[in-house]
Amino acid sequence: MRTDVQERVSAPSLDVDAVRAAFPILAEPMSGRPMVFLDSGASAQKPEAVIRAQAEFYRHDYANIHRGVYDLSQRASDAFDGARRKVQGFLGAADWREVVFTRNTTESINLVAWSFLEPKLQAGDEILVTTMEHHSNIVPWQIIAARHGAKVVAAPVSDAGELDTAALRAMIGPRTRMLACSWVSNVLGTVNPIGEIVAAAHAQGVPVLVDAAQSVQHLPVDVQALDIDFLAFSAHKIYGPSGVGVLYARREHLEGMQPWQGGGGIVDRVSFEETTYGEIPFRFEAGTPDIAGVHALAAALDWFRQFDIEAVQAHEDHLMAIGLRALQQVPGLNVLGAPAHRTGAISFWVDGLHHQDIGAMLDLDGIAIRSGHHCAQPLHRRFGLEGSARASFGIYNNEADVEALAKSLRYIVGKYG
Ligand code: PLP
Repeated sequence: MRTDVQERVSAPSLDVDAVRAAFPILAEPMSGRPMVFLDSGASAQKPEAVIRAQAEFYRHDYANIHRGVYDLSQRASDAFDGARRKVQGFLGAADWREVVFTRNTTESINLVAWSFLEPKLQAGDEILVTTMEHHSNIVPWQIIAARHGAKVVAAPVSDAGELDTAALRAMIGPRTRMLACSWVSNVLGTVNPIGEIVAAAHAQGVPVLVDAAQSVQHLPVDVQALDIDFLAFSAHKIYGPSGVGVLYARREHLEGMQPWQGGGGIVDRVSFEETTYGEIPFRFEAGTPDIAGVHALAAALDWFRQFDIEAVQAHEDHLMAIGLRALQQVPGLNVLGAPAHRTGAISFWVDGLHHQDIGAMLDLDGIAIRSGHHCAQPLHRRFGLEGSARASFGIYNNEADVEALAKSLRYIVGKYG
């Protein structure tokens, strides 16, 4: 079992200076200081390759897709279709038709809620989530549950910030229609045993949606090996553009689902008497998509996949280890949870010091962190908190970033805590 301090002895290494050089914004000052960006959990910065791909697409290749017979539209369509295959490869999906483009993780989850689950839901049914979910993986289920007298139930989280998998297993029953679970908590950084969770749900015939918003940028993913039914992620958290999301859904599920939004691009034949719908995945992509954004997502995946994921993990595990050690040494500072396996985020609080004030004071030192409830109010309430401060890491963070954070926190907590 891995310990809280996760350091690998030998792993391929990452040239972090070269990675940082790929992100122009990191060279810009913030609040008049060299920028220390520790808010990638909210949204990651973009490498030059992604910025350029999007700009060049608009400059040379842009037209609406799938509707034009002229060369430019064909090229734009080819780029869009190619991006879908790239996402398929990234996720290890069996078929490109299993990849639906959305606006973000939130929209992907709403799509599954409305198109897959809502038509099946009956009074007394249960949708099982966990206490550590982001509101995006709670509220869509509540909205559809309320329409049918169904309810959303949440598996507990331990004091260490780990999912109680025994309790989760016991909560899967004949009324459970869906299990929706984050792979990585955006607050605690806890990595949930997703393969084990999927297997437990499937043993009782329950489909699983995995919220991968905080995992695809840190951990390898293979939807077939893990037998995942639905998986959602956002391009903007994996060094891609904002405004583009992905839903992976097994083909047999998608084939049985009706559109959730009406419009152009999703239909087969339209008349005032009757409309029939087109093939998957187009049936779920009403209207003109973010064509250039999807192209930029493909560029982000190309950029990210040039690195060995083990090297990325080793680097981020190292940052996590030294970050935890440094923050735990700040007198009066409390780190939220102590899960055996965590990635991406460390949240903390200081008695007598509001998390917003911590965030505002760190900003004066050029340090960007997040403060608030991080769209996870039930989880904070579980720990008796209204909110917390959160430092989150990306591939470009280095030891100096962690040291700068710890130094500022020592000063702030020493003076005001
Ligand atoms: N799920 C998790 C675990 C997240 O961390 C986030 C965003 O922070 C979301 C869902 C929602 O992502 P988006 O706002 O891109 O839809």
